[in-house]
Amino acid sequence: MQNILDAILAGDTATEDFAHLELPESYRAATVHKDEVDMFEGIATRDKDPRKSLHVEDVALPELGPGEALVAVMASAINYNTVWTSIFEPVSTFGFLERYGRVSELTKRHDLPYHVVGSDLAGVVLKTGPGVTKWKPGTEVVAHCLSVELEGPEGHDDTMMDPEQRIWGFETNFGGLAHVALVKANQLMPKPAHLTWEEAASPGLVNSTAYRQLVSKNGGAMKQGDNVLIWGASGGLGGYATQYALNGGATPICVVSNEEKAKIARSMGAELIINRSEEDYKFWNEEGTEQNPREWKRFGAKIRELTGGEDIDIVFEHPGRETFGASVFVTRKGGTITTCASTTGYMHEYDNRYLWMNLKRIISSHFANYRESWEANRLIAKGKIHPTLSKTYSLEEVGQAALDVHRNAHQGKVGVLCLAPQEGMGVRDEETRARYINEINRFRGV
Ligand code: NAP
Repeated sequence: MQNILDAILAGDTATEDFAHLELPESYRAATVHKDEVDMFEGIATRDKDPRKSLHVEDVALPELGPGEALVAVMASAINYNTVWTSIFEPVSTFGFLERYGRVSELTKRHDLPYHVVGSDLAGVVLKTGPGVTKWKPGTEVVAHCLSVELEGPEGHDDTMMDPEQRIWGFETNFGGLAHVALVKANQLMPKPAHLTWEEAASPGLVNSTAYRQLVSKNGGAMKQGDNVLIWGASGGLGGYATQYALNGGATPICVVSNEEKAKIARSMGAELIINRSEEDYKFWNEEGTEQNPREWKRFGAKIRELTGGEDIDIVFEHPGRETFGASVFVTRKGGTITTCASTTGYMHEYDNRYLWMNLKRIISSHFANYRESWEANRLIAKGKIHPTLSKTYSLEEVGQAALDVHRNAHQGKVGVLCLAPQEGMGVRDEETRARYINEINRFRGV
């Protein structure tokens, strides 16, 4: 890989030279192993340790197919989906790979006894497959994680509707937590020039998801003046949802679990903040079998106290079972609950009387289509939305990085250096960077 890294670090290597670089037969990658999917049996979710299941090892370079690209990965980031893969919950991701492997001769490549994980990257195009015209070797890129086949009509209005829609690096193999990644060329987007490799790699998945869930017409279609309740406002998704609310003229009501996180939300410009630990909401009884509507009311009263008596237009939901009943309750008449996840459990319970009698809507949202991801990346490139990177690990420390996210011991996003030898490299536009340096560093060192 040294020849590839040298070409990237030189900064002025010509496209033809990149195209002629010799590619390695194998590369370093973070993997989980199929013969270890039962390793945590009988252990509580919280105690399942990604450091035990994530390996960093050499794997074979996959064959490059039509419409695909091999990318040298300079940096990647941890997403919650890598936590799910590494603790084999709610299901082992090898089932996804087996199913994908049955689609065609070419997709068989993905069905292996190891899964290279990771759904974000910033890096450099090494080689493109037949039919790719838009991207050339040597181009600096980031990749969104939507993988589609688009052979049927279903996905041709909104690609998220493709029956063969998958999340790259979670439901497909050859993900971004590695020195090389295999992507479809229609996952590629220009790397924001004012960011380092690790900063550029960190927004991808969560930024695109938050954009669709909150801003897009396919999600919350947020408008100026909306009151937006954001759970986990300093977390992966929430750190972007908060910025979108502020950037779009809405009012975020940020829920966080400690004062440090409240400080981060304030630094983004949020003024209405609820510390859920301080308030000690008990939406469920001890056994987790029944909810307490009086606690929903206490939460709603707190929101009204902050907003001057107004209720929530859009709830940005992802904790799931723990909070969903409260989220439905505090939404205004005609308001919207948008949901993209169920971190605390997917069997939700809410009082449907509050929903139907008040004409509230629950909208499901999942990642984002190429256009939405492109818009979200464009806003980063323009310095209107900023990365939320708090800490960076090396690829060898990927298990610890995933553990931080699993334990909710992190802020914003946790980055991983892949080929990049150190942090701080890859900036091509110093002027724009200088203009936004405080915003870029908001989540740093917390
Ligand atoms: P994250 O960085 O861990 O942030 C989640 C935040 O939720 C935490 O920071 C925490 O904030 C808050 N939270 C955790 N437990 C909570 C509880 N019991 N009640 C209220 N708030 C709680 O994770 P993320 O990247 O934002 O992802 C969140 C979820 O969305 C994950 O399940 C992930 O798999 C999913 N996701 C789905 C998609 C999609 O396309 N469908 C995309 C991205 C992520 P505080 O402790 O400060 O409250």
